[in-house]
Amino acid sequence: MNQLSQLQTGLSILELIYLISSVLFILGLKMLSHPATARKGNSLAAVGMVMAIVATILLHHRDGKPIGNIGLILTAIAIGSVIGWVIAKRVKMTAMPQLVSFFNGMGGAAAALISMIEFPNVSPELIAKSGMANGEVLAILLGLMIGTVSWAGSMIAFGKLDGRIGDMRIKAMRYVNLTILAILIGFIIFIMTRHVRSSAELAPLVYIMFAISVIYGVLFVMPIGGADMPVVISLLNSFTGVAAAMGGFLYNNQIMLTGGILVGSAGTILTVLMCKAMNRSLLNVIIGVFGGGGQTNVTVTGSVKEISISDAAVLLTYSRKVVIVPGYGLAVAQAQHICHELDKILEEKGVEVRYAIHPVAGRMPGHMNVLLAEADVPYEQLIESDEINPDLPNTDVIVVIGANDVVNPAAEDDPSSPIYGMPIIKARDAKNIIVMKRGMGKGYAAIENLLFYNDKTRMLFGDAKSTLQNLVNEVKSL
Ligand code: NDP
Repeated sequence: MNQLSQLQTGLSILELIYLISSVLFILGLKMLSHPATARKGNSLAAVGMVMAIVATILLHHRDGKPIGNIGLILTAIAIGSVIGWVIAKRVKMTAMPQLVSFFNGMGGAAAALISMIEFPNVSPELIAKSGMANGEVLAILLGLMIGTVSWAGSMIAFGKLDGRIGDMRIKAMRYVNLTILAILIGFIIFIMTRHVRSSAELAPLVYIMFAISVIYGVLFVMPIGGADMPVVISLLNSFTGVAAAMGGFLYNNQIMLTGGILVGSAGTILTVLMCKAMNRSLLNVIIGVFGGGGQTNVTVTGSVKEISISDAAVLLTYSRKVVIVPGYGLAVAQAQHICHELDKILEEKGVEVRYAIHPVAGRMPGHMNVLLAEADVPYEQLIESDEINPDLPNTDVIVVIGANDVVNPAAEDDPSSPIYGMPIIKARDAKNIIVMKRGMGKGYAAIENLLFYNDKTRMLFGDAKSTLQNLVNEVKSL
């Protein structure tokens, strides 16, 4: 086989492997949409990624030459894998959103670094022909801007979710952020239409653009608080995908392109769905002007009334319809298994038990689905909030377990509240309300919840896991 045909065979095998990897990504993504197949889907996509990386290292050629620096590449992969493995192994389920934010930020940084490294390599012939107005430069600039915003924004989101950074709200933020965004887009247009003769002339502009992108990433996530973080995380995720796809254009690499587009489009769809679920506008998310600090004018009326374990057990056992609202506290307490045991015992006693699932309950999109799937709660028992809300007036008891913001009526009643407009599970419509939590602690949005003072509400104080265990024992004995 002569050298040329060897090269051609190498290229076609590489493309075939990229095609198989792409199919594995798509199948994996599809399987992620159901808790029962999600784990397998994740593994399939991981196999696709390993195949793509190995094939690139062994078969990729640039200007007819095989890939260099293999030792360095393998060392970097080994270091990254060990760090990633240790962090992922140690992280608690409830700290998963911070981890997702952090890893997503690393993806954005990698995409931005590609642009930083590659802008000096824009081919001189291309520049001589069309100046900076060409697809290569556009891919570099967009990859730099989007990747950097994703990195800086994700780091701030990580800090906020981890409780290290507080909210920063300035009234004029909307205008500041819109202005910075306009400057960034203006920069790209300016660079592409300017008569620069070499990539060296491009360097200062690229570094300035990097700095502005960092500022934008920080400023657009800083004011977002309240209950709105999940939407931002999902948006940043899609940014990283788009930035990676720019790398795919730049290197004419199909698998980077497919992977990036899949992440970008899945993230965008999720963002749009979350915006809809949270009743927020996408533009407001992009310029960081929603959610925020604590509420201003809440007058607490009524008093907190408690219920004993035995009274709660009687109330539940002699009900016809019970709805459980799981929230972040259920995840913290790792009470999903005992919660499922309670629902099974009640069902054995003829009570219909369903779970009301709010899209942002917990600390990551779909958190409650994952948590309850882990405890083998049948998927059919999980009902989305807008579907279950109309049936709550016919529900005998709603049991709120470690949830707070997602049942807070301030979202409907108090226009000054940072969660105003967010759809909630209308727990107050049920005939009886039992709330399980440790004390009168606030939720993620750090605001008062008048549901706890409602006439129909009875508080069952304590850690969710031990309270549920006691309740199970009591219900069994009835
Ligand atoms: P919240 O965070 O609003 O409230 C959780 C409640 O659980 C607290 O009030 C706390 O009260 C109680 N709690 C904590 N530990 C325990 C325990 N061991 N046993 C019993 N109760 C406990 O939870 P929700 O699920 O209602 O709402 C989620 C919030 O997080 C929303 O604001 C959402 O927007 C936000 N968020 C969601 C993300 C997502 O993607 N899902 C990502 C980031 C933020 P006490 O201290 O009194 O026990």
